[in-house]
Amino acid sequence: MGVIDRYAELLPVSEKTPRITLGEGSTPLVHLKNISETLEIELWAKLEGCNPSGSFKDRGMVMAVAKALEDGAKALVCASTGNTSASAAAYAAAAGVPCYVLLPAGKVALGKLAQALMYGATVIAVNGNFDRALEMACEAAEEKGFAIVNSVNPYRLWGQRSGAFEICETLGSAPDWHAIPVGNAGNISAYWAGYKQYKELGKIDKLPRMMGFQAAGAAPLVTGEPCPNPETVATAIRIGNPVSANLAKEAVAQSGGAFNSVTDEEILAAQLMLSSKNGIFAEPASCAPLAGLLKLKKEGKLPKGIRVVMILTGNGLKDPDTAMSQVGRPVEIGDSLEELLEVMKA
Ligand SMILES: *Cc1c(COP(=O)(O)O)cnc(C)c1O
Repeated sequence: MGVIDRYAELLPVSEKTPRITLGEGSTPLVHLKNISETLEIELWAKLEGCNPSGSFKDRGMVMAVAKALEDGAKALVCASTGNTSASAAAYAAAAGVPCYVLLPAGKVALGKLAQALMYGATVIAVNGNFDRALEMACEAAEEKGFAIVNSVNPYRLWGQRSGAFEICETLGSAPDWHAIPVGNAGNISAYWAGYKQYKELGKIDKLPRMMGFQAAGAAPLVTGEPCPNPETVATAIRIGNPVSANLAKEAVAQSGGAFNSVTDEEILAAQLMLSSKNGIFAEPASCAPLAGLLKLKKEGKLPKGIRVVMILTGNGLKDPDTAMSQVGRPVEIGDSLEELLEVMKA
């Protein structure tokens, strides 16, 4: 069951809303035993890379596209660091409407670009950063009367609340800390709204601290200033002027949480640790929270024994270039058994 059917009563859907789905949501929430021991906490990972287009963006996109269809939109438009375009293109393909995606030229991970093109979107590379591409997308959508499906579209955040609902249902309560990467700051805001909605409904009795993690080269919510030239290997959070900054600040302030930043080196080390020691391959942006938890532990700022859920926002396969730059190459041998046995030292 997709997000719209599973949570119809909790979301702004009516009989007229088309019940589209690609099977998004209901992603695994996995206890990470090894890292829990290292960090002396109870750490859970929500595997959002298991969504149909490989990132959490599908939860909100299914809502945004359903509402756009309900309103009779002729085409979809978005600007994207990659995953929004992949998701928009997928749902547009399934719904049979044209999709225009604007990407910052040369700054999108290979897998995401391949997806947008394979799903049949018109892909436009803008020689400017993400923030400028988003302004252009909004202006063009207005001019043409097309539906903009960036997170300025309120239905995106509605759909993304479903992640919080699922966590509460699986754990029977909210975690102590909710750790999440922050780019445009929509997801942290959506999770906070979702937890609050569940509390108001009496389904949970406490709220988590919202812990947002940004890349050091793109950390406007940590420095308190927009960042004119964001730069980070974690392209999904390479954003200098977050659209949902105010909502995110509110979430952090109301929940007693915090924003922290981590360097690209720390992000890549966390990515390798997650894949090589725990069997979970997440894209670089998704690994900012783990990098942050490791850093807070080192600084003595991670309380012992707390239950933490971190959102692994996207699949590692989306960015093969960054992964390959971190690891060795296959061991090459001839076709003799001796050479093979030589390699097998275990
Ligand atoms: C979009 C995205 C983010 C950032 O989410 P925001 O809602 O923009 O803060 C983080 N990780 C991945 C993989 C993403 O695709």
